[in-house]
Amino acid sequence: MAAMNPAFETAEIIAVGSELLTAHRIDSNSLFLTGVLNELGLTVRMKHVVGDQTADLRAILRTALSRSDVVIVTGGLGPTDDDLTRNAVADELGCPLIEVPEILARISEQFSRRGVPMPAINRRQAQVITGARWLANANGTAPGQLIETDGRIVVLLPGPPRELQPMFEADVVPAIATRTGGRRLRRRVVKTTGRSESQIEELAQPVYSQFVRQVPAIDTTILASPGLVELHLSCSGSDERVLDAALDAGVAQLQGALGDVAFSVDGRPIEEVVGRALHARGWRVAAAESCTGGLLMQRLTDVAGSSAWVQGGVVAYANEVKVEALGVNPRDIESHGAVSIPVARAMAEGVRTRFGADIGVSITGIAGPAGGSAEKPVGTVVIAVASDRCDVREFRFPGDRAMVRSFSVSAALDMLRRHVTA
Ligand code: ATP
Ligand code: MG
Repeated sequence: MAAMNPAFETAEIIAVGSELLTAHRIDSNSLFLTGVLNELGLTVRMKHVVGDQTADLRAILRTALSRSDVVIVTGGLGPTDDDLTRNAVADELGCPLIEVPEILARISEQFSRRGVPMPAINRRQAQVITGARWLANANGTAPGQLIETDGRIVVLLPGPPRELQPMFEADVVPAIATRTGGRRLRRRVVKTTGRSESQIEELAQPVYSQFVRQVPAIDTTILASPGLVELHLSCSGSDERVLDAALDAGVAQLQGALGDVAFSVDGRPIEEVVGRALHARGWRVAAAESCTGGLLMQRLTDVAGSSAWVQGGVVAYANEVKVEALGVNPRDIESHGAVSIPVARAMAEGVRTRFGADIGVSITGIAGPAGGSAEKPVGTVVIAVASDRCDVREFRFPGDRAMVRSFSVSAALDMLRRHVTA
């Protein structure tokens, strides 16, 4: 018989652990949990980080249970005195802890398999809140717990991600999935480069502003980082085929509005798009980098299988290396400067011929904070791509050293993409 409880819509996550309130540890479990909960069609309305304080945990659990359908508590299930989640939740729910012989047997067996007697303090990990379902921990000693209370669910999970993640997937996802009214969330990501966040917004907003009016409605958010602006589309409902069809149509409309600044709609990063395009043409690439110090080469070789299209590269930081390793004419450096169109062109052509590649790419620029001038301020970067023809562009990137370097690599990858697919 189907339960007549209303469908779950909201979730709340409480990460327990004083170490999560220091500068040394971050609550990453909630990122994982949020991703999976969203796919189940649940909205995570709040996340909390609480130190190892019973009163604080009880207070936040109380308010979480007053407003959210699913409350997930992570951490503090270990055997030590500072692991207080079990007791705090039991007290707050008014359900005493009971020892489960089967869990105790499992834990002591885990210890005897390692040839050590079970420390007495681990016994408390066999305690379960009355009425809870306990969840086996394949990668540690602390079992998880799932408690139904007043039509809501409270889940206790161990803190270590390698224990929490498989337990959540195996035991918690199925329990929640039966209670979401069959609702699912599907998403797509449209990745763009070469335009700022506001330029992308200007192009895309007239399209995606219509998405909220249609059925099923599509939510759109923009995420920007140096050289990459992403549009995240999500859509929830009960029929996955309907959701996928709506998202496919939405993505196609956005691609129409964005044109070739959109380089990926299937999650692939630009280095992979570039790699596949090089591979399709049977081309091998070589790179000559100055201000990026090898970052472009790293991105190109991040892609598995990149040995099929990456020939090699050189970090030509000093002018002598530009001359000796790449054959740049020292007179070009003298008269135009190391950051100039003739030098960038010579670097790309030099690395191409000297490495026996089909296509060469070069980056030369002023990442700062020093080295700028009125004519060539910090952020001036020249990038060239050379095959049997050569594209050269001069950029003025904003931001600090790290940002200028990120922008430079993104722009070089985009120029490569355009050159190879032209
Ligand atoms: P244990 O039995 O290992 O003590 P536990 O359930 O008591 O497990 P904690 O003691 O709270 O968990 O955390 C153990 C370790 O798990 C932490 O040192 C940390 O590395 C990791 N951890 C805990 N909480 C989180 C979190 N929210 N995000 C990422 N890692 C976490
Ligand atoms: Mg612990």
